[in-house]
Amino acid sequence: MTELPDFYSMSAEELIRRDQALLWHPYAASPSNQPLYAVERAESCTLYLKDGRKLIDGMSSWWAAIHGYNHPQLNAAVVEQTQRMAHVMFGGLTHAPAVELASRLVQLAPAGLERVFLADSGSVAVEVAIKMAVQYWQGQDKPAKQRMICLRRGYHGDTLGAMSLSDPDTGMHSLFQQIVPQQIFAPSPTSLFKGSLNEADIQALEALMQQHHHHCAALVLEPIVQGAGGMRFYHPDYLKAAKALCERYELLLIADEIATGFGRTGRLFACEHADITPDILCLGKALTGGYLTLAATLCNLRVASGISQSAAGVFMHGPTFMANPLACSVANASLALLAIGQWRAQVNAIESQLNAQLASCRSFGCVEDVRVLGAIGVIEFKQPVNLTSIQPYLVEQGAWLRPFGKLLYTMPPFIISPDELSVITRAMANAVFQRELGRL
Ligand code: PMP
Repeated sequence: MTELPDFYSMSAEELIRRDQALLWHPYAASPSNQPLYAVERAESCTLYLKDGRKLIDGMSSWWAAIHGYNHPQLNAAVVEQTQRMAHVMFGGLTHAPAVELASRLVQLAPAGLERVFLADSGSVAVEVAIKMAVQYWQGQDKPAKQRMICLRRGYHGDTLGAMSLSDPDTGMHSLFQQIVPQQIFAPSPTSLFKGSLNEADIQALEALMQQHHHHCAALVLEPIVQGAGGMRFYHPDYLKAAKALCERYELLLIADEIATGFGRTGRLFACEHADITPDILCLGKALTGGYLTLAATLCNLRVASGISQSAAGVFMHGPTFMANPLACSVANASLALLAIGQWRAQVNAIESQLNAQLASCRSFGCVEDVRVLGAIGVIEFKQPVNLTSIQPYLVEQGAWLRPFGKLLYTMPPFIISPDELSVITRAMANAVFQRELGRL
């Protein structure tokens, strides 16, 4: 074996060269021609690149790092727990970090969600939710109820089950046709968050439920914000009506709040906009403040006891790293920071600033729409962006953003300062201007 070099003292170019010869990045080829940047460290809302440049983070590392990077309390939670134990199996053993986390989640989540399954990642939390719903109906002597009703433009993750719930066109179904379970798809709601309820949306959903409820276990949706499927914000009354229809047609409601949970939309959970409690709730991403991979699937007592009545008598899932103590511990620290309550004012301030500073982008011909909800700001173009040109342009402007499809969007850490957020909005507005001129 050849001796390995010190990768930490390597130049940015060398690190990137070696990365490209070895690794895959999300949704990329290997090797890839997409732009790639080496990060030395991150602090608060700044990413320090190895080549000396500094970028303001407009992404919270994909909705996760809500308190910013290198946070003293979050660091301490990991370090202290490391000294007790990094991990023990959860089969037959338990520990304070897991029990504290479950207690905190039950306290914070919409009332009635009282049982917690701790999983490894958002996609796995969604798989767990699917299995919970199917096992629940087995316990009710309705084993035919195995399929899911989902929304077009939804996104629920990259594992096979989660992928099956995601938009069939943008969700890669055509690539994996033979192995992706077939689900039932309702149209994406056209009732916009700031508009009014379009009754046709509800009628379409009800028609599908009427036709398919006898072989469907649940309706699965992202409440209020359809994220990776298009960053669309829909009307709370749609969610309210969907919940009522689930009750009428004997379907469970699975709410995927992996992206929206923990304050991002201006409410602690997006379900609160409609004042509903789902039967099953999936959480992830910001759960650990972006420190470690952890997710949770919560359910009500009806679902939990229904699963106990199923033929299996137990819930059939149990990952190796279930309830990892380091991850639970940092999640507890993150939830303790949220409990202080500053996030509300922070998210409101971000929302006002995004509204004020992105509004002018609406007037450009290349822009289809500009929308803001909570700490989410979206510019939708009429045509898809070219990541290879727009990403380096944004980096030149000192902003870390990751556009996709027709969308240039931001969901910054809640602790971002007005000046830092201005770097992000200026970069977005400049990119719109360059695009209008045909340069990007
Ligand atoms: N559900 C939603 C709504 C998501 O946004 C994501 C991740 N983007 C997932 C599920 C999957 O989570 P993970 O990437 O942690 O598997």
